[in-house]
Amino acid sequence: MSTQTAASVLDVLVVGAGPTGLMLAGDLAAAGVRVVVLDRADEPVRTPKGNGVVGRAVLELRRRGLLRGTGLRVLRPPRFRFGPLTLALGLLHGPLHVLPVPQHRLESLLAQRAARLGATLRRGHEVTGFEQDDDGVTVRATADGSPVELRARYLVGCDGARSFVRKSLGIGFPGVTSPDISRLARVTIPAGAAARVGDHIELPGIGRLVPFRPNRTAHGSITIAPADALDRSAPHDLYIVSTHEPRGDSDPTDELGDEELRASLRRVLGAELPYTTAFAARSVVANSRHAERYREGRVLLAGDAAHIFSAGGSAINAGLLDAVALGRTLATVLRGAAGQTALDDYESQRRAAARRTLALTRLQVALEAGDETGEALREVLGELLRNRATARRIATLIEG
Ligand SMILES: Cc1cc2nc3c(=O)[nH]c(=O)nc-3n(C[C@H](O)[C@H](O)[C@H](O)COP(=O)(O)OP(=O)(O)OC[C@H]3O[C@@H](n4cnc5c(N)ncnc54)[C@H](O)[C@@H]3O)c2cc1C
Repeated sequence: MSTQTAASVLDVLVVGAGPTGLMLAGDLAAAGVRVVVLDRADEPVRTPKGNGVVGRAVLELRRRGLLRGTGLRVLRPPRFRFGPLTLALGLLHGPLHVLPVPQHRLESLLAQRAARLGATLRRGHEVTGFEQDDDGVTVRATADGSPVELRARYLVGCDGARSFVRKSLGIGFPGVTSPDISRLARVTIPAGAAARVGDHIELPGIGRLVPFRPNRTAHGSITIAPADALDRSAPHDLYIVSTHEPRGDSDPTDELGDEELRASLRRVLGAELPYTTAFAARSVVANSRHAERYREGRVLLAGDAAHIFSAGGSAINAGLLDAVALGRTLATVLRGAAGQTALDDYESQRRAAARRTLALTRLQVALEAGDETGEALREVLGELLRNRATARRIATLIEG
C-alpha cells in the first residue's frame, strides 16, 4: 500500500472528474491549493450527455478564459424552452447566456485548465472508504487492484448522483422518481427519409416535428434535433432523438437495445422512424432529489452528488456554480482568512439555489403532464408567459 507522509498531506482531495470536480480542482489550483482529483474511470467518458451550459455558469467559464481560442460562442437567445412552453425574451440583451458545447468537450477544457494550474488528476482510482478526524481525512482507494491511501485536509464528493461519498456519510437523498421513462439515442436518418423544412423536420409518412422540444402524441412525446445544430462537426444525417412515455415495468439502462428503442418510437409516433443505425442508446428515469446536507465536518458534496433535477439543462450549471462557491470558500478557509464555519455558508447559499432550481424543473415536468392538470397549467402559464416581463423574470431565475 502506498501511504503518504505528514508532509505530503494534500489540501483537498476531490472524488470525481466530471464537470463539477474538474471546475473545483481548477479553481483551487488557481488559488494555490494542493489538490488531487481521483476518478474511477480509466478514460474520460465519451457517451453523449449534456449539450450545453446555461446562465451564470457560462460567464464563470468565460471569466476563466476557458472559451478563448476554442471557437465556442456564447449566445443570448431571443427564445428559450421552458418545458413545453417558450420564453419569448426579445431580440436585444436577452437575460440568458447559453453556451452550446458537448459535455465531453467541456470536461476536456476543464481538465486541461486544472492540469495547467497544477491540479493532479489520477484516473483508474476508485475511492472505497474514508475516515475523518480533527485534522483531516484519510481516503482509501483502489488502483489497478492495489490499495492506495491518501490524506487530505478536506474531501469533496463530486462523484455523481449515486455518490459513494454521500452514501458513506449516511446523508439522505430525498425526492421523487418519475413514473415515466425517457429513451435517448443518436440515430442516422438517411437524407431522403428526413428533411429540414424551415423550422421543422419533415418525416415523410409521419409528419412534421418541431426540433428541440417535445412533440406530444397520443402515447407520449418525441423530441428530435439535428446533431450538427449543437456540434458543427457532427454528420448532417445524425439526429438526437428521445421518447418520453409511461414507464410500465421497464428499468432504465445504459445499454438500450435497438428493438426496445424502435418499439418505443413506434408506440409514440404511431409509425416507424426510418433510421438506419442507432448508437449511445440508453433509457433514463428522471429523479428529482436533494441531499439532506452538503457537509459533514471536513467532507463536502457538490454537483450531482448533492442534487439532481427532473428536467434537463440545469444540472451542469448548478454543479459548476457549486464548484465556484466551494472553491472560493475552501481557498479562504485553507488560507486561514476564515474559520471552518465559512463552509456552512457554502451549504446555505448553494442549497437555496438548488431548491430554486428544483422548483423550476419540477414545474417544467408538471407542465409536460398529458392529463387535465397539465393542460390547465400549459394554458394558464402559457398565457402569462406571453407577457415579456414575466418571461424575462423566469429567464433571470434560470440564469441564476
Ligand atoms: C443522457 C444524459 C443527458 C444529459 N443532458 C444534460 C443536459 O443537457 N444539461 C445538463 O445540465 N445536464 C445534463 N445531464 C446531466 C449531466 O451529465 C450531469 O448533471 C453532470 O455530469 C454532473 O456532473 P458532476 O461532475 O456533478 O458528476 P458526474 O459527471 O456524474 O461525474 C462524477 C464522476 O465521479 C466518478 N466516480 C463516481 N464514484 C467514484 C468513486 N467511488 N471513486 C472515484 N470516482 C468516482 C465517476 O467516474 C464520474 O466521472 C445529462 C445526463 C445524461 C446521462
